[in-house]
Amino acid sequence: MPEATAPADPPKTTPVKLSAPVRALHKLGLRRDIDLALHLPLRYEDETRLAPIASLRDGDVAQVQGRVLECRVEARARRQLVVRLADLSGELVLRLLHFYPSHQKTLAAGQTVRARGEVRSGFFGREMVHPEFRAVAEGAPLPQALTPVYPSSAQLPQAYLRKAVGSALARAPLAELLPAALLPPGLPPLREALQFLHQPPPSAALATLQDHSHPAWQRLKFDELLAQQLSQLQAQQARARLAAPALRRVPAGLAEQLLAALPFKLTAAQQRVVAEIGADIAQPQPMHRLLQGDVGSGKTVVAALAAAVAIDAGWQCALMAPTEILAEQHFRKLVGWLQPLGVTTAWLTGSRKGKGRTAMVAQVGSGEAMLVVGTHAVIQHDVAFARLGLAVVDEQHRFGVAQRLALREKLNAQTLEPHLLMMSATPIPRTLAMSYFADLAVSTLDELPPGRTPIVTKLFADDKRDAIIQRIRDEVARGRQVYWVCPLVEESEHLDLQNATATHAELGAALPGTLVGLLHGRMASAEKAAVMSLFTAGDMKVLVATTVIEVGVDVPGASLMVIEHAERFGLAQLHQLRGRVGRGAAASVCVLLYSGPLSPTAKDRLKAMAETNDGFEIARRDLEIRGPGEFMGARQSGDALLRFADLQADGALLEQARALAPRLLREHPQAAQAQVERWLPGGADYLKA
Ligand code: ADP
Ligand code: MG
Repeated sequence: MPEATAPADPPKTTPVKLSAPVRALHKLGLRRDIDLALHLPLRYEDETRLAPIASLRDGDVAQVQGRVLECRVEARARRQLVVRLADLSGELVLRLLHFYPSHQKTLAAGQTVRARGEVRSGFFGREMVHPEFRAVAEGAPLPQALTPVYPSSAQLPQAYLRKAVGSALARAPLAELLPAALLPPGLPPLREALQFLHQPPPSAALATLQDHSHPAWQRLKFDELLAQQLSQLQAQQARARLAAPALRRVPAGLAEQLLAALPFKLTAAQQRVVAEIGADIAQPQPMHRLLQGDVGSGKTVVAALAAAVAIDAGWQCALMAPTEILAEQHFRKLVGWLQPLGVTTAWLTGSRKGKGRTAMVAQVGSGEAMLVVGTHAVIQHDVAFARLGLAVVDEQHRFGVAQRLALREKLNAQTLEPHLLMMSATPIPRTLAMSYFADLAVSTLDELPPGRTPIVTKLFADDKRDAIIQRIRDEVARGRQVYWVCPLVEESEHLDLQNATATHAELGAALPGTLVGLLHGRMASAEKAAVMSLFTAGDMKVLVATTVIEVGVDVPGASLMVIEHAERFGLAQLHQLRGRVGRGAAASVCVLLYSGPLSPTAKDRLKAMAETNDGFEIARRDLEIRGPGEFMGARQSGDALLRFADLQADGALLEQARALAPRLLREHPQAAQAQVERWLPGGADYLKA
């Protein structure tokens, strides 16, 4: 029988009392042999050589072996153990500032001791402070391999972990799954690669192990990337087998009427993506498409046109936004566009309860409401659509994995699957698009509507506050509107609020006769809506807000945004916030206030914001700084999405994995399946969400 691939967890029986180190292993997620086999060293120590004591130089990290001449406790400023160790070439002091009687025993005069540490030239000659040491027999052999140092915890001694990994490695099911001829040349078999990484020979080039460029590392990364590509292909194929309503655009239909009624002409980019989406939803298989476009590029009208096509074909459309404010704004906009054309629209959010909600849910269930706009309340289990043909998810990366999975389930509930359009202003860098979103069709709006003046971004230290308030006065005098954004203090929602409230009072006092509003996450939604509508109508000139306004809010009269404590925000988030201004024809300014002193990296990050308005460039820099989790909406989990491969560094391997995946799936489906199960146990749900 061939080796099994991913052995199931041990059967759950009556709880056994686990030993402390085993519990510590489990805590690190090391349960199965394969988990341990894939638990790679952080670094290595070379214990394969002994250095003659006379050859040691200041700063060397070395291993020596000798006989203890003397072991005594010295009572200086603090008690310490001083040990004189000698080999044939010379003498060395081992100094221990913390010690136990057991140490004195190990280091007693006459013992042969092997010690490893950094050499310092002290007043009394060469010494090692707190070296690693143990007593050995006179001619005890040296290890044949470099000694691995593993990521571990306080409860888990390295020695125990080394043994556990060693025996797990021997048992782990690591049979070669991939036909050798299909592997990129130069990569060792998996078992060999792991053997090498856990126990490299003394001759191994440490630099290539350390920077993960060694072929053994490459093999691991390749396998991981391949599994990911395969799982996405499988998802894609599964989707292709599903049936969806073919939504065809009719001549002189709703979409045409909407276009004619719009106060603007679509940009070339909008026309292109409308055509791409139109071609997809006309197919009898469900669309799975991401529409990415920088803030302000006009994604909403593209969604509205797709909705019009679906509704014309007799199917319902759902549009979900991550916040109530944004959902409400979409609702107003879409109602404004589609109601005059005879479309009935429903509105569902978490705060809509009681009779109003029951009535809406009934309209959705009967199919009377053709367009349903809301937050994730739209996918709650008591909401059943009569005929859902198209689901649009705005700012999809802001939804958590659980919500995206809930949406999937809702979509799967019908005999015919609806088409899915996701929208995001956070562009996915190419490498990410190729790896996590390989399965996703992408449309890009790479053009802003005409007549926009680029936003100018400026950095100021917080002590320039007065000058900035003067600037706000000027702006308001010219009939413009201003956002003032206060940061989210992660540790304390309360502080956060205090901060926003204080700023609100400060601005109110500094701007007599001007209506200054306050918006934060703790307000009731009716209150929020009231403030937002005053601001949207232009009656309120200044809005102090926490990041609740972050996504999608569209008030064209706003031309100045001040972001307080800008250093606390992520780049993508700053870009989103900044995108709330510059939506009308007026030249807009974004002021990033920071309270110093800033670290050089923090300063660089803020400078990057001032240097570019290009969301792609910002996303690229953000990816460098924060890693891919951010883009996946997986930041809650904090999990690294790839354990071994690094999308920045391993683009070439990713290309190879991407090229191999379809062929492997076609010609060796069982091996492909085994590969996915080995590397992505648990199905990597976020990939499907
Ligand atoms: P985003 O892509 O950030 O969601 P929106 O859809 O909110 O952008 O559009 C931003 C603003 O630009 C809105 O006021 C919208 O009505 C307007 N807009 C969209 N398309 C065009 C266009 N082709 N010409 C002029 N204005 C447009
Ligand atoms: Mg938007």
